[in-house]
Amino acid sequence: MLGTGNAFLPYGRYHSFAMIDGKHIIDCPPTALASFRREGHSVSDIETIFITHVHGDHVFGFPFLLLERTYISDRAHEKPLTVVASKGVKERLKQLCDLAYPGSLETIFERIQWREEADGELDCGLTWHRFKVYHDESVDPYGYHFNKGKEGGFVHSGDSGPCELLYEEIAATSMAILEMGIPEWVASDTHHKPSDVDALAKTTPNVEFIITHSFIDTPGSGWEPTVTDTYPIHPSNVHHAEDGLRMNRHGTSWRVKLKESTKN
Ligand SMILES: [Zn+2]
Repeated sequence: MLGTGNAFLPYGRYHSFAMIDGKHIIDCPPTALASFRREGHSVSDIETIFITHVHGDHVFGFPFLLLERTYISDRAHEKPLTVVASKGVKERLKQLCDLAYPGSLETIFERIQWREEADGELDCGLTWHRFKVYHDESVDPYGYHFNKGKEGGFVHSGDSGPCELLYEEIAATSMAILEMGIPEWVASDTHHKPSDVDALAKTTPNVEFIITHSFIDTPGSGWEPTVTDTYPIHPSNVHHAEDGLRMNRHGTSWRVKLKESTKN
């Protein structure tokens, strides 16, 4: 988990996004470059970007990623870059890049391989299934179900409220990265709240839930809480992620651990 905060950046968190096997990322938030630098990842090592939806906190780091590769980590444009996204995202990201750095990103943009199919497979054997979730329709919201054979699979909810299709995908996996964007008192059914997480974790006790896109400050930040710095009490299959969290597959189960270098 390269970042675990919602749009409002609670203390101790960069914007939420995840990385698979050190080279594929799910979303590209405004703080993506900061997350890469902190973890020591070269930006040019990113081969694939999966887009869940086009809200700013999920994709506004895209022009910066292209800019960094163009001027620093891949000046010769040798590294491949694939973007997996629903139809229409390409045009939205083109507008974003033209607005951010007119004239500077055309070359790298034209070299991107776009994959718009809902079900696909990368050369490394990672497959995806993209499915509709319940969020603001105008940003084309999706979740993903990833699989890599014996190495296991997981679901990424994208940004969504409780949603039948999402819950069916979660019931068919062993680990789910779930975005919990808002506290209990916010009137919205297009995001998960703590009580939604609670109900879902109880109905699917065999799934490990990694909670991200959080409104909760990382406990112990030392600052006056933005909203709160206290995690809700949840069943033991719910893990409130913090930046740097890693999930490793061991046999048929997942292990969840905080990376040493980001403990502080
Ligand atoms: Zn969103």
